[in-house]
Amino acid sequence: MSTLQKKPVIIGAGPAGLTAAFELCKAGIRSIVLEKDNIVGGISRTVQYRGYHFDIGGHRFFTKVKPVEDMWREVLQADFLHCQRLSRIYYGKKFFYYPLKAGNALRNLGILNAVLILLSYLKAQAWPSKPETNFEQWVSNRFGYRLYSIFFKSYTEKVWGMPCTEISAEWPAQRIKGLSLLEAVKAALLQKQTNKDGDIIKTLIDAFDYPRKGPGMMWERVANIVKESGSEVRLNAETLNILWDGTQVIGVRIKTDKGEEVVEGTDFVSSMPIRELIQRFDPPAPAEVVKAAESLKYRDFLTVALVVNKPDLFPDNWIYIHDPDVKLGRIQNFKNWSPEMVPDPAKSCLGLEYFCFEGDGLWTMSDQDLIALGKKELETLGLANAVDIEDGAVVRMPKAYPVYDPGYDLAVEVVRNFIQSLSNIQLVGRNGMHKYNNQDHSMLTAMLAAKNILGHNYDLWSVNVDQEYQEEIKGEKKGLDDLALVATTQPRVPRRVERAPKP
Ligand SMILES: Cc1cc2nc3c(=O)[nH]c(=O)nc-3n(C[C@H](O)[C@H](O)[C@H](O)COP(=O)(O)OP(=O)(O)OC[C@H]3O[C@@H](n4cnc5c(N)ncnc54)[C@H](O)[C@@H]3O)c2cc1C
Repeated sequence: MSTLQKKPVIIGAGPAGLTAAFELCKAGIRSIVLEKDNIVGGISRTVQYRGYHFDIGGHRFFTKVKPVEDMWREVLQADFLHCQRLSRIYYGKKFFYYPLKAGNALRNLGILNAVLILLSYLKAQAWPSKPETNFEQWVSNRFGYRLYSIFFKSYTEKVWGMPCTEISAEWPAQRIKGLSLLEAVKAALLQKQTNKDGDIIKTLIDAFDYPRKGPGMMWERVANIVKESGSEVRLNAETLNILWDGTQVIGVRIKTDKGEEVVEGTDFVSSMPIRELIQRFDPPAPAEVVKAAESLKYRDFLTVALVVNKPDLFPDNWIYIHDPDVKLGRIQNFKNWSPEMVPDPAKSCLGLEYFCFEGDGLWTMSDQDLIALGKKELETLGLANAVDIEDGAVVRMPKAYPVYDPGYDLAVEVVRNFIQSLSNIQLVGRNGMHKYNNQDHSMLTAMLAAKNILGHNYDLWSVNVDQEYQEEIKGEKKGLDDLALVATTQPRVPRRVERAPKP
């Protein structure tokens, strides 16, 4: 069959699915994109509420992948803003710069606290906690318990939903390796950060790119471009079943407003969560594959967007909330990302971010109660007065984070082997591959999947999401071939401490 006769079916209209369709369009191939929601963009969507635009967590556009950068620029053109970044840590009603600045940190902590931090550090040096198996021990041994409890404990526990004593020490050891209190103080004094090779780490403190009306603007444009080229982007079209004959996928059964229908194709690209994909094979996938897929877990996320009747609340794009007495983990100030996110210059729109599990107390609270909680917490923090908050909206995002718990990698391997035994289906993207990645890596896997449909033979699983590209900008931006071949692993997400099974 010539490539032009191909009829690819793509599951999901997030960054991965739409990028695959975009790449195929460029090669003259029309595809069908099936999206279960009534909006494109997936986790990178922009929600609109009474003219206010907000993200599911602020979405910075940053990449080392040149083809990704080129696609963003090609699509967004003049609508791609270059924004100055300010994001600080909020603790005890004080703003701390991140990375820390010595003067600011000392002023905020006060002399007494600074002395106690030093004593706690000296204690940790003299009597380190051994054996060092969990996050709390690892960080306290290097920074002292007091500093750990201010800058690490509360935020980490909010994000990951588990006590730091249950997070394996392997994670901080790889994420913050080489950093000691002395080096942190030196960096805070010099305002420079270097890595272990002495290279200056340019963190994303200074600037980032962002579409004028939020990330959804990018994905709505891509959806329009592919539709204009003859492809279909079908919203409210949930994939219910993957129909296969033992060697390949034949079609997918979807649920639409009008009922169920089967969409046939020659090639299939899936960005839907692995767990659901495998559960939906018809006839069922082998039992061990279903078992592996069902063991995969996710962390969920919700945003409470509040409209505040004040033009300026704080200058940050976002603030990390380290106070343990509120549930919220981070606050976005969307106006500071782009003024066009807010329709009335006299008002602000804040996105209060809560990390949760589907079905837990936060997740199941009514929207009204969540808005009330958000108002109360903003007031507790002293960042806004409840009387100034005139409206609010809630967006729940299930499966925002794929969880890397013990055994997840083996489970993904089982699924991957099964998928690779079929000749015409590829997995792409974040939940599509159970990889904790950003838009750019989701897009890269999709670009390679599209190239494979055109006859190439890229290994999508070797795309490296764990490279510390996100924190460190060094060297040239890479092209497809360089990146498809890189494969190292450094967990960017924590794992639980592995305990010996009870006898
Ligand atoms: C809080 C937060 C902040 C983030 N910040 C950034 C950032 O600053 N910069 C950045 O680049 N990235 C960021 N990310 C990551 C980014 O959101 C993801 O990497 C990206 O959206 C992944 O794209 P995707 O297409 O792989 O998956 P998704 O965005 O999850 O899209 C998958 C799509 O598939 C659809 N789908 C699922 N099941 C079905 C089904 N059965 N049938 C049909 N459709 C289905 C979904 O509805 C969804 O639209 C952030 C993520 C979070 C949670």
